[in-house]
Amino acid sequence: MEDNTSAQRILDNIFDVMQRLYDEMRLNKNGAGEHLRVFEIFAELGRTLAGADRASFWRWDKRKGKLLTAAATGESQIVIDDTTGIVGRALAENRTIVTNDPYNHPDFNAAVDKKTGYVTKSVLVMPVANCRGEVIGAFQVINKLGDAGFDDVEDTKRLSIAAFICGMALESDLFLAASQRDKLTELKNRLGLHSDYQSYRQKMLQMPMSIIMCDIDFFKRVNDTYGHNAGDAILVHIAKILAAHIRDCDGAYRWGGEEFILILEGFTLTEAAELAERIRLAVVDSTCHFNGEELRVTMSFGCAQISAALAMEDNVKVADNRLYRAKKTGRNKVIYQDE
Ligand code: GH3
Ligand code: MG
Ligand code: MG
Repeated sequence: MEDNTSAQRILDNIFDVMQRLYDEMRLNKNGAGEHLRVFEIFAELGRTLAGADRASFWRWDKRKGKLLTAAATGESQIVIDDTTGIVGRALAENRTIVTNDPYNHPDFNAAVDKKTGYVTKSVLVMPVANCRGEVIGAFQVINKLGDAGFDDVEDTKRLSIAAFICGMALESDLFLAASQRDKLTELKNRLGLHSDYQSYRQKMLQMPMSIIMCDIDFFKRVNDTYGHNAGDAILVHIAKILAAHIRDCDGAYRWGGEEFILILEGFTLTEAAELAERIRLAVVDSTCHFNGEELRVTMSFGCAQISAALAMEDNVKVADNRLYRAKKTGRNKVIYQDE
């Protein structure tokens, strides 16, 4: 009888969560483009199902070699190297790890406890994979309430609903992010700029925003002379220079073949032109080493201050027209005004 009651309570709990999520997804007006609420709600549900003090869902940023909490009950976001901690080990070996004696576990990282004063007594970490079986994240619960520790059969069974749904949601976020990134240069692509433009639009009401459009000069000659792979190496080389010249709040995009766009937060037209000039010189001074060859290129630049009154395409057009004039009037230069 008691079992039935508690089973009914758990079921009701799960149904409530699912209905809340269903409604939130349907009514979601901000279109954040990620499943933050799914992670938050299922971290909380997982915590309840396993009878734990804390729960978190981690995503694995393989590009940066980091593990980040996508949602965590009772603590703010944690970022660690993906080679560290029990979560790192569970992901690296694609296996569930349960320990009821963490301070004696070889992979346990006591640094967070030392900093916060929290005492970890038990840990359960379940890796989650995408539809190709690649591990992409992990579900973790900490400190089983009561005296018993985590049970690797019963608790993983209960948590698998939270781990599975968080995994599906994360996979969908990763698909969306991948569709907005250029595989060669690792910069965002044209779709990425269209997607980011919504948040730029909000910012441009409060501060100046500028755009730099740039294009490699005589790039076709590189391909014709040294081959397509050498051309690819130049594109990667240029993308690195561009990325090194902007801040986290700015954006760098591969707009098309050998054409790039930078969006600069808080930059007036003059500041954008100054930055473009610094990048132009950095490109001139740089060498791309490929297959024993020393490849050098120059770039042309068109800059514009973004107008909130214009559509994205029209703002791009202003910069593009100036880039076109830079090409027509000798290349390897920055143009930031109309004639
Ligand atoms: P301009 O100075 O006027 O810009 O001349 P350009 O030769 O740079 O411009 P053009 O538009 O004539 O040629 C661009 C070349 O870029 C043609 C195309 O094959 C090459 N390209 C586009 N995408 C890629 C790529 O991903 N890899 C390589 N290797 N080449 C690419
Ligand atoms: Mg070109
Ligand atoms: Mg071009």
